[in-house]
Amino acid sequence: MEENTLTFIGNDSGFGEKNNSAYFEKNNNLFLIDCGSTVFNEIKNKFDFKRFNNINIIITHLHNDHAGSLSQFILYMWFIFKKKVNVISNCIHIKEYLDITGTPPESYEVKKELDNLEFLKTKHTDFLDAYGFILNIDNKKILYTGDTVNLDSFMPYLNTINELYIDVSKFGGAHIKVDDVLDILKDLKNRNIKITPMHMDDKEYITELINSV
Ligand SMILES: [Zn+2]
Ligand SMILES: [Zn+2]
Repeated sequence: MEENTLTFIGNDSGFGEKNNSAYFEKNNNLFLIDCGSTVFNEIKNKFDFKRFNNINIIITHLHNDHAGSLSQFILYMWFIFKKKVNVISNCIHIKEYLDITGTPPESYEVKKELDNLEFLKTKHTDFLDAYGFILNIDNKKILYTGDTVNLDSFMPYLNTINELYIDVSKFGGAHIKVDDVLDILKDLKNRNIKITPMHMDDKEYITELINSV
């Protein structure tokens, strides 16, 4: 079986041990997806940062479990490795967020776009804007929902993807309640689309349910 495109640093829900975050590498460039409070400590010694031409962080939204150590990571790259980080995000407050956390403007560049990536705005909470994305990579199309209450923004793409990374929860609320999407997941599975649950509040419950469809 082919390997997943994304490798996870953590896949816990917001109050869990390891914030939801993943990465991939392409042509000696690192692409990190989200940088929550726990992520800095997870990645500090994980990579040989010197070998990367570019370090890119895709930020889906500004909740602490997705951006809580972003400034710290940028400072670390800037002062220890003399590297400027590309922050790829559509979040309307991203620049303000980096400013108020004391991130020197010369240490990063905010980019709204990335080649082969398309942000899709989704509904998560009333208090901030949140995005998932479609990424085309190595002849595969992946869909990453980010934190979301439903799949509405993503439905038009479900027929075209090879891998789905989906925010699922046992209890719902600001996240997709896993019981509500079982029919969709079953259909995707029948079409050999790889499903990776993420941001899980109850891994046992969710994994068992998804495996059973
Ligand atoms: Zn979250
Ligand atoms: Zn969130």
